[in-house]
Amino acid sequence: MPTLIDLRQSGEEPGDTRPRHPEKQGRPDNASPRKPDWIRVKAPTSLGYHQTKDLVRELKLHTVCEEAGCPNIGECWSQKHATFMILGGICTRACSFCNVATGKPLALDPNEPANVAYATAQMGLRHVVVTSVDRDDLDDGGADHFVRTIAAIRVAAPETTIEILTPDFLRKPGAAERVIDAAPDVFNHNLETVPRLYHSIRPGARYYQSLRLLDSVKQRDPKQFTKSGLMVGLGETKDEVLQVMDDLRVANVDFLTIGQYLQPTKKHAAIDRFWTPEEFKALETIAYAKGFLMVSASPLTRSSHHAGEDFARLKAARLAQAEG
Ligand code: SF4
Repeated sequence: MPTLIDLRQSGEEPGDTRPRHPEKQGRPDNASPRKPDWIRVKAPTSLGYHQTKDLVRELKLHTVCEEAGCPNIGECWSQKHATFMILGGICTRACSFCNVATGKPLALDPNEPANVAYATAQMGLRHVVVTSVDRDDLDDGGADHFVRTIAAIRVAAPETTIEILTPDFLRKPGAAERVIDAAPDVFNHNLETVPRLYHSIRPGARYYQSLRLLDSVKQRDPKQFTKSGLMVGLGETKDEVLQVMDDLRVANVDFLTIGQYLQPTKKHAAIDRFWTPEEFKALETIAYAKGFLMVSASPLTRSSHHAGEDFARLKAARLAQAEG
């Protein structure tokens, strides 16, 4: 099998040409199937896109939009929506679906919380989404950095609602609790896939640990909205997806997102198949029937896609439920 070395920037420093995914270099290639029409997106060209890009570069911020190679970047950045990725640009896990650079991270940037807050204010975001790489090397898994980022945003942009998309804080006692107590408006943690596929897709994570994290948010602060996401197209069955929905409902998760997995490079997990828009619609209907307050299921759904509008709908749905 040919071995390609992916030398794109590592995500940590401009000009850094270390392999982006050193652990994947020796793997055989997985053929990338041709994308169906419903997956195609336009190349980003708008003024808003370039303004967002300039600000991200100026403040030396990382975004998951770029690092994960999100297909929605043209649309989101044109509207000045970006999802900030904190704790640096290098992840200590090595999930086989993810394009974020992996390896040994650099020290935390103490200015990162303030820079994220400044960018939030500059971009006039009414709702900001902050995610991070996994930092298993840190004693608190990066919890304190999340807390400081939330606090900095509250000062710089007091009207902005805050959504966080966190790692699982596996084996970091007390870390999740500290982040929950910072009271973000939405606490998101993605399950990503069905439990049967964890060992190959998310080998560093544990399905029940992730579920427990989501459950613990609701137990500790019932007012906080909880959210989780799944990718399909990795080899899961529909029944397995429905079982995950049931598990999430037992954990009282409010909002479910489901999108199509897209393979970042030939070294990443293979695409098993493309679920059709009709199949996504069917999943959405079933998920609502199972009691989620909000569901977004479509080929290009991503955790943070339209997060601001979705947050407004989420609040309205909770109100309607309380009044109903
Ligand atoms: S969907 Fe999320 S990750 Fe993708 S470009 Fe939009 S804000 Fe960024």
